[in-house]
Amino acid sequence: LNKVFGDLPVTVFEAMSQLARDNNAINLGQGFPDDPGPEDIRNAAADAVMNGNNQYPSMMGIPELRQAIASHYQHWHGLNLDPMTEVMVTSGGTEALTSAILAVVEPGDEVVVFQPVYDSYLPIIRQAGGIPRLVRLEPPHWRLTEEALRAVFNRKTKAVLFNNPLNPAAVVYPREDLELLARYCQEFDVIAICDEVWEHVIFDGRAHIPLITIPGMRDRTIKVGSAGKIFSLTGWKIGFVCAAPPLLRVAAKVHQFLTFTTAPNLQAAVAYGLGKPDEYFYEMRKDLARSRDRLTSGLERLGFPVLRSQGTYFLTVDLSPLGLNETDEAFCKRIVTDYKVAAIPVSAFYEQEPVTTVVRFCFAKRDSTLDTALERLSDAV
Ligand code: GLN
Repeated sequence: LNKVFGDLPVTVFEAMSQLARDNNAINLGQGFPDDPGPEDIRNAAADAVMNGNNQYPSMMGIPELRQAIASHYQHWHGLNLDPMTEVMVTSGGTEALTSAILAVVEPGDEVVVFQPVYDSYLPIIRQAGGIPRLVRLEPPHWRLTEEALRAVFNRKTKAVLFNNPLNPAAVVYPREDLELLARYCQEFDVIAICDEVWEHVIFDGRAHIPLITIPGMRDRTIKVGSAGKIFSLTGWKIGFVCAAPPLLRVAAKVHQFLTFTTAPNLQAAVAYGLGKPDEYFYEMRKDLARSRDRLTSGLERLGFPVLRSQGTYFLTVDLSPLGLNETDEAFCKRIVTDYKVAAIPVSAFYEQEPVTTVVRFCFAKRDSTLDTALERLSDAV
């Protein structure tokens, strides 16, 4: 049987959610909101189920959604995408990433990947015959450095996989870091696969800068997005790939044999959602920032050193000053069994030289859920 996949553990998100269920714990591990999501968008989906098309939609996505994605990025980032040759709809961000990786990577190609790394990247790179070259990012800033890039980029580098905003570190990268990465991509003629699923989930007036908008990157970046994260409907599994025609054409050939197409009614509802006024997106950010602040101040009151979250559904806690004498993994196992609160150990996002002192909590929850979790954790440290 296939070694790449056969030897893999169950993903940490699924494993932790299972532990949360087994222990009857509040699940602040896997990232999903606990409210039902925007009512008008759900209504648009219900209407499309009852009155719209329920047969195979076109393989690349329904035209109205491809147009809505192009218009959305034009409006928010001044990015000019041709909806017919530069936009594809996939069944979730994970499929979008897989299509992008399999479109680019051939046996022997080196692929630069940053740790903490989202757990789907490395197995797909390896299945394609690629050789991951890992760059280790560290708390509290998780910034890119010239020194780290110089150590891994070389003439065998085919691609770089970059996640911004970065899950689990909850960092939104500034232009300076993107320009540094762009310089290396151009010097070594590298394709960037940029996982930007958290692009709208950013706080404190920060701006998300898509890598594809950095000068020199338009034709060498594959941009991945996800409606699940934009609209807090994570089970819908609607993702997008945006790239110049030569790149998108190959990604589409992968997509046609991975999932071929994606539920048409959910696509119609996402097309409606992407056209919502700017205030909708700012309100969503404000609501999530309020939840972030609630969990941050609650954890700080209990003595947890919180690293401030700039984006995503997550904040991280640095255990090292607490003198607990246990790893992040041991800590997570202890709190799920003893205090009935699940979190994710950040070491799970490392393959080499893990950071073992940082734990990720999801704050995209109702106030009452966060408050109960805080009560339960009151004597955990
Ligand atoms: N992106 C989600 C997280 O980081 C997990 C998605 C999944 O479970 N595959 O929590």
